[in-house]
Formats: sequence, C-alpha cells, structure tokens
Amino acid sequence: MESQVTYHIGIETGGTTCKVGIFQSPISAHHILASETIPTRHPDETVADICAFFNKHEQYTYSSMGVAAFGPICLDKKDSLYGYVTTTPKEHWGNYPLLPNLLAGIKNKSPSMKIAFDTDVNMVALFENIRTGGGKSQNIAYITVGTGIGVGIVVNGQMVHGLIHPEGGHIRVPILNEDQGFEGVCKYHGKCLEGLCTNVAIAKRFGHHVDENATKIKDDDQVWDRVGFYLGQCCANLILFLSLEKIIIGGGVMNREILYPLIQKHCKEALNGYISHPNLTSVEGLAKVIVKPEIEKDLGIIAAAVVGEGSEDTI
Ligand SMILES: [Zn+2]
Repeated sequence: MESQVTYHIGIETGGTTCKVGIFQSPISAHHILASETIPTRHPDETVADICAFFNKHEQYTYSSMGVAAFGPICLDKKDSLYGYVTTTPKEHWGNYPLLPNLLAGIKNKSPSMKIAFDTDVNMVALFENIRTGGGKSQNIAYITVGTGIGVGIVVNGQMVHGLIHPEGGHIRVPILNEDQGFEGVCKYHGKCLEGLCTNVAIAKRFGHHVDENATKIKDDDQVWDRVGFYLGQCCANLILFLSLEKIIIGGGVMNREILYPLIQKHCKEALNGYISHPNLTSVEGLAKVIVKPEIEKDLGIIAAAVVGEGSEDTI
C-alpha cells in the first residue's frame, strides 16, 4: 500500500535573498511542488512575503517545516529568545523573532507539525549525513564560501550547537608572505579565514568589484592557490579536531572548480602524513573527503525540508 502523501516546508533565509519551497513526500529535488525567491528586506516585510507564499497554496496542509537561517541565531530551546536572529549587524534583523513570526503567519499547519530551526550550514551538514550516511552517522562539515564563510558541523549524528553554534569562518590561519600586506576584510578580525577568502576579500586584492571576480581573474592566477591554502588549513584543523569523515564545500566562490584540488593538496600538506588513514595521506584520498555538494540547485531548502521532516520537535 502506498503511504499517504504529505506536504513539507523548506525555508532558507539569506542576507540578500530568501528561498522558500513546498515539497511533497518523499522529499527530494524532484518533489518540489512550488518554490520562490524572495528578496531580503526589512524582516517584517520579508516574513510577510514568505508566509503569503505558503498561504496562497491553501490546498496543502503542512506536516513539517525546516528553517535554515543566516546567523547568529538562538538555538537554545530553553531560552525565551529561541528561534530569534540575535546579534547580526544586518539592519533591523537584530533580535528579530524569526521562527515565532513564521509560525504565527503560516496557516494550514497540521496540529502536530514538526519543526527544525538551525543555521543554514548546520542544516546542510545534517542533510548530507542523512542523505549519504546510509543510516550510519558520520562526522561531517559543510562549509560555504561566498560573501561570508559559514561552517556547519555534525558530530555523532547531531548538529553542533553548544554555547551558540559554530562560527568557523572566523578562525585564524597562518598568513602567507604574499598576504602580509593585505589587511583582510573581516570587520572583527581583519585576516581571519573569512577576511581572506570570501568573494569580497578576493575582489579587494585586485581593487575591483566582486562581480568582476568571475571575468577578470584567470584560473591560473595565484590568488586561487592562496585561497586554497587557507581553506586547506581550515579543513586540516577540522579533521584534526573532529575526526571528520567528509567536508563538503559549496558557495559562490567554489564555482571556481580548480579550488577543490588546491584545497585537497594544501590540506594534505598541512596534515603531513601524521594520521595514517588512506583518505588523509594522498590527494586522491582527500578527494574523497573534501568534496563539492552533489545537489547544487535548491540545496538549502531541500536540506531544511528533510531535516524538518525528521525533527522530533513539534509546534
Ligand atoms: Zn572574522
């Protein structure tokens, strides 16, 4: 007997745009019934548009909702600010009750609707664990490199929260001689990982606009080796700290595909043969560990919907 079809919400909030989607079970890229991209403006207007999208499809009753949010966000379920965006410098979004306002605005919720709320990168890391783990939990990181750097981490099958949530984009890495005179772009740390590797940091080294990175920088420019070096250090540190089995790296900067072999090479050199696992002692091995996302289109909302459906939390 075929199981009953259910309907699921996936939401990804981003600094520039938000993506929303309605999925039919079993959730996959092929089961998106409707989706939309909504420009991120004042949070009240943005959330109103998100809710209006789901409410206009009044034929569906939603069994679950996953929200993959840009941070920082409050993930402590015992905290009165659970579900809030907290200290973001993004105008009007600081201390904004994102999850409460979504729940208040979306109609047609099933009485036992499941909910997942987490960082966009944690959501993708858990989704990849569910998708590729074959039932076995893996230690996985998902890194996105775009206008910022986010690092989501799943250890022992759980998204890492702790004090807040990981903010691995702001770790320190050794600075190459070629970058000694570069001040970096992170407002807080200058030359942290994010200050060195985002599309903004890359553009700043050339004195051009970020939109020109794609056309003005050739594949053989040595800036890519520098970015590969820093991201390779990050991967090596993550492997050493967390015994990761897989590191998935996505985001706009990673459209430059030559970065993958460069990151693998520099990660191998940083580990320097210390851990005698076949995946860590050769570039070929590291090519199995440091990978690009297999799903690129709609990854955030698919991940959010899948994690939402599997959540044990309900409204
Ligand atoms: Zn920083």
